Amino acid sequence: MVRITQWRNKCIGCNICVEVAFYRWRISTKDGRCTLVEGIESKGLFTAIVGDDEYEINKTAAKHCPVKIIRVEKMKS
Ligand code: SF4
Repeated sequence: MVRITQWRNKCIGCNICVEVAFYRWRISTKDGRCTLVEGIESKGLFTAIVGDDEYEINKTAAKHCPVKIIRVEKMKS
């Protein structure tokens, strides 16, 4: 499994993560920031646990995020 985290308050809504992994990220029409699909919020940090098949593509999204607020890590089983 893979854990994706996002510090959403610092998102600038650039859309890059959506272009890279459209099924995992959506720009909110309410505030223009990006939402982590199936993300659960805790103290401003959003977390989603996803399958290993999403690791590489979300790593790419994290790498290209201009404000570096996405983290992607493999979880120990
Ligand atoms: S790449 Fe980063 S700054 Fe851009 S929309 Fe996604 S989370 Fe927000």
